[in-house]
Amino acid sequence: MQGIWFSELQTPGLAISVKLKKTLHHEKTPYQDLAVVETESYGRMLLLDNIIQTTVGDEFFYHEMIAHVPLNTHPNPRTALVIGGGDGGVIREIIKHPSIEKATLVEIDARVVANAREYLPEISCGLDDARVEIRFEDGIEHVRQMENAYDVIIVDSTDPIGPAVGLFSAEFYRNVYRALKPDGLFVAQTESPLFNGRLIRRIQRDLAEIFPIARLYLGTVPTYPGGLWSFSLGSKEYDPLEVDWKKAPQLVTRYYTPAIHQGAFALPPFVQEILEKRDEEEF
Ligand code: SAM
Repeated sequence: MQGIWFSELQTPGLAISVKLKKTLHHEKTPYQDLAVVETESYGRMLLLDNIIQTTVGDEFFYHEMIAHVPLNTHPNPRTALVIGGGDGGVIREIIKHPSIEKATLVEIDARVVANAREYLPEISCGLDDARVEIRFEDGIEHVRQMENAYDVIIVDSTDPIGPAVGLFSAEFYRNVYRALKPDGLFVAQTESPLFNGRLIRRIQRDLAEIFPIARLYLGTVPTYPGGLWSFSLGSKEYDPLEVDWKKAPQLVTRYYTPAIHQGAFALPPFVQEILEKRDEEEF
């Protein structure tokens, strides 16, 4: 292969390779290794610890699915919290909802936001909206301290390693429950059904113990391992399968639609099996 290629080793036996035009920025932040590169096929791309976080070319699949599914499930979301998400993509989608009065971004690494503002304006463009508050702190701690504060909480985290490990724990989900209003709901990105089945199963079981409604839905993210991605939703009152679409806002989107929202909860048999298996069974 000619030229310079970046390869992310996504599993011990699988890599995704992207041809680079140039490296725009590289630094070690207090939390992680951060790079912004220009790719031939997906435009600019953000890497943290050599793991693809987002690209200008395919970010809309992920950001629209993680934001609009919970926001349209809630009939009148006014306050939203994003944990992680320093690139700003989820915030950009949240502020498309006219009912939103305040969107809080809690990102542990200020350098992610600074670099997104400088190199990824298409993704970070919502961060200066008057309804947005940005706090540079640990999302685990933030949620521990909040009570009855948010209509919707979205966890747009890195993979469950380093500072993000605690964002996948049952204790964190219990704190999320407390931080939500009495009819609030929450969504987290929960990795690949192809490669992280055991994690997804454990999360779904934890959520089912904490929330009256716990559901898994799927989306496509071309640059993530396997291309098929999972999102886990816990809700105190509203069921994502019973949205009153006549009352939902008209959104300008590129991937998400009401039909895709509904269809995302239709789980293929192999994913259903993941949820039903016992931990000691292989999948
Ligand atoms: N969509 C991406 C993915 O799934 O690969 C995630 C993108 S976003 C840039 C993830 C962010 O979560 C990173 O900027 C990271 O700094 C942040 N993060 C990790 N752990 C965190 C924590 N405990 N509290 C707040 N932010 C955290």
